[in-house]
Amino acid sequence: MIDRNKEALLAVKPAVKKRVKQLRSEIEEHNRRYFVDADPVIPDVEYDALMDELRALEEANPELRSPDSPTMRVGERPSEGFAQVEHSAPMLSLDNTYNAEDLRDFDERVRKLIDLDTVPYVAELKLDGVGLALRYEQGRLVLAATRGNGRTGDDVTRNAETIDTVPKMLRGDGRHAPVVEVRGEVYLTYEGLAQMNEGQEERGDRIFANPRNTAAGTLKMLDTSVVATRPLQFVPFQLLFPERHGVLSQWKALAYLREATFTIPPHSRLCTRGIEEVIATVEELQNLRDSLPFGTDGVVVKVNEFEWYDSLGTTSKSPRWGIAYKFPAERKTTRVESIFLSVGRTGAVTPIAFVEPVGLAGTVVRRASLHNADEVARKDVREGDTVWIEKSGDIIPYIVGVVKEERPKSAKKFVMPDVCPVCGEALDRPDEEVVTRCINPSCAAQVRGRMIHFASRNAMDIDGLGAKVVDTLVTEGFAKSIADVYRLKHEDIVNLERFAEKSADNLIAGIDASRNRPLDRFLHALGIRHVGRTVAELLAGAFGTLEALRKADVESVAAVEGIGPVIADSVVHFFSSEGGRALLDDLLAAGVAPAPVVRGESVDGALSGKRLVLTGTLPTWKRSEAKRAIEGAGGKVVSGVSKATDYVVAGESPGSKLAKAEKLGIPVLGEGELMELIAGGGA
Ligand SMILES: [Zn+2]
Repeated sequence: MIDRNKEALLAVKPAVKKRVKQLRSEIEEHNRRYFVDADPVIPDVEYDALMDELRALEEANPELRSPDSPTMRVGERPSEGFAQVEHSAPMLSLDNTYNAEDLRDFDERVRKLIDLDTVPYVAELKLDGVGLALRYEQGRLVLAATRGNGRTGDDVTRNAETIDTVPKMLRGDGRHAPVVEVRGEVYLTYEGLAQMNEGQEERGDRIFANPRNTAAGTLKMLDTSVVATRPLQFVPFQLLFPERHGVLSQWKALAYLREATFTIPPHSRLCTRGIEEVIATVEELQNLRDSLPFGTDGVVVKVNEFEWYDSLGTTSKSPRWGIAYKFPAERKTTRVESIFLSVGRTGAVTPIAFVEPVGLAGTVVRRASLHNADEVARKDVREGDTVWIEKSGDIIPYIVGVVKEERPKSAKKFVMPDVCPVCGEALDRPDEEVVTRCINPSCAAQVRGRMIHFASRNAMDIDGLGAKVVDTLVTEGFAKSIADVYRLKHEDIVNLERFAEKSADNLIAGIDASRNRPLDRFLHALGIRHVGRTVAELLAGAFGTLEALRKADVESVAAVEGIGPVIADSVVHFFSSEGGRALLDDLLAAGVAPAPVVRGESVDGALSGKRLVLTGTLPTWKRSEAKRAIEGAGGKVVSGVSKATDYVVAGESPGSKLAKAEKLGIPVLGEGELMELIAGGGA
């Protein structure tokens, strides 16, 4: 008996192990898309479902636990390149509720604790955004931080400063207490997202699917100039330490914030007659939902009078003075007409369901992404099936599940084909990955996708080479690889569809004008995995020339401030791969010569040409201040310790970087020594 059980256990293990590995890889991929590209591809509910499944498997099989697992990271998804800020009070989230009965229970608990018959509440729309904490000193904005894990968040002050509805100065200067702290939500309106997507489409870049995720990703971008182009908005929902301002209730707090020039949540309501009035208000707001210019996920209900907050207290997770009522997600059924496979520029093959058009949350839905073969298999979606589709803040809806009773007898299980639907070559799916790829580098679908990206405005910016022209060139056989574009001649294209003498001249001129674009644009254009605009700029700034970057090893790429090991790996892998080398040689041979980028701003100072690593907490300088001081003296701050590091500046709890510096014999400085060095004292 025991032996047989053991056998069964052993038999099930490889499958579980494989699934855990798969889940981790899939979640990491989503994390990277979320952080590196600021463009997640799956809705949050599905991301959460993956995390839940992984957590459950790890709990059931403790030997599979690993410190590298994404489940081991608390709070929001990882971020690099921002200083950490401790919140002056924890940023807790309210308990959720989904029906009127729960609201009545909440009210009963409140009334019992504070011994009142009728409690006045404030009901506010909960905008579908991401939390932000603002700190004003003498009326001036000095700090903006993300929620992070609730206790510490990322310092995103420079990004927050670009948001129109975040006041830089509070109105009524001198009237405010020395410190004013405000918490609220950063969000994008539907129109704002549509505007962004218009620009993205024009440039042939990716479309953003979800306003909330896009807002969250944007807030955590390293390049403030990009953040400034995006129409982020802010609404406050909490005035911290209201007693400092003589404010006694949430309703008065909203008035105070409005007076200070914040835009408070629209349709906020003071419900003096208790919970039944709140429930009526919630229903009213839910009916308004479709006509609102932004996404909402519910209504937040708060006890109005602050004097009760102390006696109500908080649980370990949430305050007891408020509750969040969540609107149900919008769902409809429709029929899957066909499942189509789309091949992207990276070769990723994505199944897409074409559905009978159906109206959902203000748009007509015609297609829904099925993400990957596992996803289709898990939901068992078949052509001809009636399916539930849902939108939870996303522009592109997703399929929740199949109405099995309505499945036609003839419906066949979806099978991922073995060969690419475009080029007919064998498809590849590594064991631990969820994505099936066409690995034929000359697959027309990939060449087309890569070429559109290569020519797009943020990349090589080739005038006249848009999606339709690329289509023509690829189908006519004039462009089998990106480099072929640079070999095009007037006589090749003048007779093609869509071309005449003048447009052919213009295209050739546009192509020629792009031959010497700066290195950062060229790197972005290559479409190396994980290398978007920001990373391309960091790489170009650090290495200066293509030759230098081609020779770099993983360690030196990872040592660039803002670049982590995953990106470094991907970059070095590209430059050492056969395909990558062939493409570069081909481009150079065809007359492309990316212009070198001047490394940083060469400031003449005591630290000119020196590379420094900061680790631990310095006694007086914040990390950002130390960085500025070093750069001001001509030095450069890098993130990883390597032989090329000149100094390591160590503060309290320095971590492994100090040990590595000692091992490599690199001089270690304290804050005082650094200050002396910058002042020109020498070391
Ligand atoms: Zn293919």
